[in-house]
Amino acid sequence: MKKIVLALLYVIIFLISGCAQEAPLSETRFFIGTVCFISVYDNKNQTALDEAFKKIEALERLLSANMTETEVELVNRNAGILETHVSAETFEVVKKGLEYSAMSGGTFDITIGPLTSLWRIGSSSATVPDAEDLDKAVGLIDFADVEIDGGDYTVFLISQGMRLDLGAIAKGYIADEAAKVLVENGIGSAIINLGGNVVALGSNGGKAWSIGVRNPLSDADEIVGVIQCADKSIVTSGIYERYFEEGGTRYHHILNPATGYPFDNELASVTIVGESSADCDALSTVAFTKGLSDGLALVEELDGMEAVFITKDMEVYITSGLEKTFNITNGEFTIRR
Ligand code: FAD
Ligand code: MG
Repeated sequence: MKKIVLALLYVIIFLISGCAQEAPLSETRFFIGTVCFISVYDNKNQTALDEAFKKIEALERLLSANMTETEVELVNRNAGILETHVSAETFEVVKKGLEYSAMSGGTFDITIGPLTSLWRIGSSSATVPDAEDLDKAVGLIDFADVEIDGGDYTVFLISQGMRLDLGAIAKGYIADEAAKVLVENGIGSAIINLGGNVVALGSNGGKAWSIGVRNPLSDADEIVGVIQCADKSIVTSGIYERYFEEGGTRYHHILNPATGYPFDNELASVTIVGESSADCDALSTVAFTKGLSDGLALVEELDGMEAVFITKDMEVYITSGLEKTFNITNGEFTIRR
């Protein structure tokens, strides 16, 4: 646990050391199964921080697949039986999740729940499931079998056993909502980091923020390079955040809905830079599932979205919009174009 905490806080430590302003008002709390860190640089009022954390907690109670009484769990329990009325917030995340599922052609799928609950990666009971169980889970995954109605905010999973898992998109949505709360409370300069899902609100005293991109191949707190940005979200999906080892093989948490096993491609991580953290979160996972070549082409085509792809071979590929604002700081990595 300590290692995870250190790793997640690394971005922030790096930020603070590169910061010319006086010390921010910072606080760390534990929600959504991870370390949530907020640092406010202007208008430092504790109420704003408290309100933002309250928002994170409230949204976890709607969106978590790890708690029993959330709206997402109600939708899951009602699978194959009846539609579920949900809040506007839950509806929005499910709708966006379905859009990205369609955009990916199904390599990203928010009905991945039967599979993630078999593997339980991230928990102490993580295990390689039986082939038969994997087949069964794979057969239940299909985002096209989710019916939503925007008129009265209902969600229906058409077959029993189907399960939503919004783990690839909800952290980003929650980060956006926490940022809105800060802005509503008069804050214009802040960093929100929900387990590596970062929102860099406003600027760092009129200058760009320096956000470190973690070395996905090292357990040590190292970075590969630095992105300079203002008023952006930076979100990474990778093989280092959640994994376990069994029989000498490492199994990470981004699962292929077609095979039931973790994606095994040339990528170690994908970092997306963009406006909305929900979009960055979804896109980082989508791009990871697509692999280097198709993932790069996909992000390059999207307006306002940039990416840093890091391969297991220590090569770094960036989209054209980052050429002036991303710099490699780690000599072990090589930039390729
Ligand atoms: P991302 O790349 O953004 O997402 C990967 C995650 O998406 C996987 O962990 C899995 O959940 C899901 N996924 C895997 N493959 C696919 C795919 N092909 N398509 C779509 N989705 C996929 N963790 C805990 O340990 N305990 C908790 O109590 C807990 N509560 C949470 C509550 C909420 C509201 C949220 C949003 C997350 C929570 N988590 C919890 C963490 C969650 O289980 C995921 O591990 C986490 O969101 C992964 O985020 P990421 O940015 O590391 O990876
Ligand atoms: Mg994601």
